[in-house]
Parts: sequence; C-alpha cells; structure tokens
Amino acid sequence: MASLRRLVSRTSISLSRVYCNLGFGGTCRSYNAVNSAPLKLEEDTRAEMGGNSSLDTDEIAKIRQEFDAAKQSFLKIPEALKGMPKMNPQGIYVNKNLNLDNIQVYGFDYDYTLAHYSSNLQSLIYDLAKEYMVNEFRYPEICMNFRYDKDFPIRGLYYDKKNGCLLKLDFFGSIEPDGCYYGRRKLSLNEIKHIYGTRHIGRDQARGLVGLMDFFCFSEACLIADIVQHFVDAKLEFDASYIYQDVNCAIQHVHRSGLAHRGILSDPCKYLVKNGQLLHFLRMLREKGKKLFLLTNSPYYFVDGGMDFMLEDSLGCRDSWRELFDVVIAKANKPEFYTSEHPFRCYDTERDTLAFTKVDKFLPGRIYYHGCLKSFLQITKWNGPEVIYFGDHLFSDLRGPSKAGWRTAAIIHELESEIRIQNDDSYRFEQAKLHIIHELLGKLYSTVANDRRSELYRLLLEELNEERQKTRQEMKKMFNKSFGATFLTDTGQESAFAYHIHQYADVYTSKPENFLLYSPEAWLHVPFDIKIMPHHVKVPSTLFKNQ
Ligand SMILES: [Mg+2]
Repeated sequence: MASLRRLVSRTSISLSRVYCNLGFGGTCRSYNAVNSAPLKLEEDTRAEMGGNSSLDTDEIAKIRQEFDAAKQSFLKIPEALKGMPKMNPQGIYVNKNLNLDNIQVYGFDYDYTLAHYSSNLQSLIYDLAKEYMVNEFRYPEICMNFRYDKDFPIRGLYYDKKNGCLLKLDFFGSIEPDGCYYGRRKLSLNEIKHIYGTRHIGRDQARGLVGLMDFFCFSEACLIADIVQHFVDAKLEFDASYIYQDVNCAIQHVHRSGLAHRGILSDPCKYLVKNGQLLHFLRMLREKGKKLFLLTNSPYYFVDGGMDFMLEDSLGCRDSWRELFDVVIAKANKPEFYTSEHPFRCYDTERDTLAFTKVDKFLPGRIYYHGCLKSFLQITKWNGPEVIYFGDHLFSDLRGPSKAGWRTAAIIHELESEIRIQNDDSYRFEQAKLHIIHELLGKLYSTVANDRRSELYRLLLEELNEERQKTRQEMKKMFNKSFGATFLTDTGQESAFAYHIHQYADVYTSKPENFLLYSPEAWLHVPFDIKIMPHHVKVPSTLFKNQ
C-alpha cells in the first residue's frame, strides 16, 4: 500500500488533499500539477522497506529550495503579469449565450437597476430602521448611538438565525475561514468548527440561514451585527432569530411605510445619481423598435420623482420619462408577481386612487398597479425568450423571470469596482503568489504520510501556511476588510453570491447603460476559457495567432 501511495503521489500531485485537510471537504477545484520526475518504483519500494526517511528529507529539502526561490520572486511584480489583458469594468459578462437581435422586449426593475443610489442611502435606511426598533420594539435607547459602517457589509452574506453569525459562503456552500462574524467580532477557525462541526454548511444548517441579497442587505447586515454585539457586550441573553425578525421587520417598515422613499425624494442630490446615459440607452432601444416596460415594487410617486431627477438634465422639458416605456407597472409585489393571479389595477396619478375597471389591455401613458405574470403575458403576448428583464435582486428580479422563460440581466453595481481591483497588478501578483504556495503545499502533502512527518516537514508546512494566510489577507483587504469581495472568496475563487448569479442570470453587468457599448444586434457569448469543471481544458485562439 505504501508503495502504491508513493506511486500515486509521484505521478500526480493534487491539492485536493490540502483542501480536505483544511476542511473544504468536497470543494476541491483545479491546481492539479503533474510532476515530471521519472518513476522509480523499484527504488521506492526498497526505500519503503529500508530507510525512506532520507528520501523524505531529500524531497522536503527540494520543496524548501523551491519555496525559498519563490519567496525571492515574490519581491517584485513580474513583467509578464503586467502585460496580462484587463477585463472591462463596464463589460457585459455572459453565463448563457444571448443573441440581442432576438430580443424584442426589454423589461426593467427600478431600484438599484435603473436608479443608481449613493452610499448615503444605506445610512438613511440603517438610521430609520434603528429608530423604529428603539421606538416600536423597545430596544435599548443606547442603540440610537449606532452608526452605519459602510466598510463592514457586502452583498450576498447569510445570517444564521440559530447561532447569530453573519457568514460569507463560497460557491460550494462552505464558510469562508475569515468570513464568519459574531456581532462585529470575527470568529477563528476553531470557533467556526466548534459551532458548525466543519466549515461546510449541511442541509439542516442551511434551513436556518437567510440570504441578505437585496439593496437593503447592507443596512440590514450591519444593523444585525451591531445589535448582536450590543447584547454580547451587555452580557444579555438573546435569541438570534428574534434579532433577525425585528431588524427585518424594521427594514420592511422603512420600505413599505414610505419613510425611505420620502427621505430620498426630500434630498435627491444626496441619494440619487443623475444619469443621462440611461436615457440614451432607452431611446436607442425605442429607435430600434424594441418594446420597453418597467416593473417595480416601488410606488409610482417614488419612481416618478426619481426618474424626473435622474433624467432632468438630458430629457427635454416637454418630454416625460413615461413615454420611454410601453407599460409601467408599480407596486408589483415581486416575487409573488410571477406566481400569483392578482389582477392589474389602473392607477390614477392625479387622485392617487385605483380604478375599478377590469384591465385587459395596457394603454400608453397609463400606470398600472399589482397584477401578475400570467395576465401580463395574456395581455402583451410577449413570448418568453424574446423578453429580457434587468434587475438587481436575485429572487425578485432574476429567479422568477428566469423560471418564466424570460432572459435575465443581473445589474450588480459592485462589479465595476471589483473588476478594477482584479485588474490591478498588485491583486494579480498576490493571486499568482497564492497559486505557487498552493502548488508547493500540494507537493509537500504528497511527500509523506501523516504518521511519518518530521520536524523539517512541520516547519515548512507552518511557513507555507503562514505565507498562504498572509497572501489571502492581502487579497481580501483590497476589497472589503471584513468580508472581502462580493464575487470572490479570499482565495480568488467564486463565492456563493457568484453561484446564484451564475444560476439565475444569463448575463450580468454593473449598469443597464453598459449595453450601449455593444451593438443592439450583438451575439453575447460565453468566453472560450470559462470552465466550471476543473478537468475541462480550453484551447485559446492565440495558438493560431502565435504561429
Ligand atoms: Mg431592485
């Protein structure tokens, strides 16, 4: 068995063991490096029978030499890395091929899709929700001193209602080693293992998690963490599920009562971003003969005030933003909209009332409330694959439409800044370092079995792990100091949020108007080098170019 083990380890060195030992379980991905050393089965068999420790020592010394040489190369960014092509921060990225020529109907969500907000909005929502919790739920008065920390949360975190932790998960549902917070305190790997057993979230544990995915998620995650921290500091007993329930209820109140809407409209310069490019995009679509509709959960007065503000510098004084759309539906109650059978109601914008007449057609210039997908399709006759819907919310804007057969475009504002960071030489440098360390760790793990590990081995392992941790921290803090990037884990692989985007969005980009950079007839296709399964090899077209 020992000989077989050595044979295997000498021919193919897989980092899967590294990950498994660190608790990644079945989450292993690529990094399979083939060792070119010739096989010496007989010699090894003799070594196993006699003094294999000297052979182990030789191999460890070789890896040590490689590590020392690598550390020298870590001193400066290699020229080749600087020449690597950059990704476009305003690009459209494709999960499923999309021929824009086939798209006849463009649908849009409003908040965080057509409307771009400044980070001031998160502070406003946080403050309004906090006040509601103190005034209505009798949370301690001291909570009024809490301040929103924009550097703490990211989109796509999970709150564990049982244990009170905020978690960042990777593509495979495992907790990020540095992405688990109890209140505002980061938990160690040992603490995570103590609570969850392993870092992988099982099916039962997953039932207790709530995803924080929409545009309230930043304020929500921060407020939850601050309140948990307050209870911990004050040594008060609490049930973590009640904290979620109360914060969520307060946030919903801020939204549904119109408190946030009125706050935004009272000072639009502070919260909304003007956007002439959006008008160009919508007008271009109309000129191309496309149909446009707006489908939002927000009330009409809020959308109207926001659109007027965003487009006022570009729209002629006689024009109305409403003329850009064939159908405008407000208070749509997504995601129930996609499955319910609620009737549409015609909304009187002057009197702020709903008409009683049956809606069996959509008239230009009119505003409609409520409704459902079934009626929408019956009235418009717009068929599934010719419709694309743009939205920021995973479940309200992407999952529902994608299940209904519409094509989907995810609008994720953070994408732009994250691509800029990933384009930076210093980030790519750290990523390359991490790959080298992973390869060395893979070699080291394959050298000797657990029960024969020498002091030399342990020392090298410790140093490699230290370097690995340092590199991961460097990469993480370039994005967000608490949770790192939205789309990436600290090792540069995909996060759970990225998994959802991959699942429900045909394409994704940072803003709808990025489509102006492409022809309206463009065929948007998956890049040649994308691979989900690590064993798939993609051959680059540069093979021909370099001939
Ligand atoms: Mg939205």
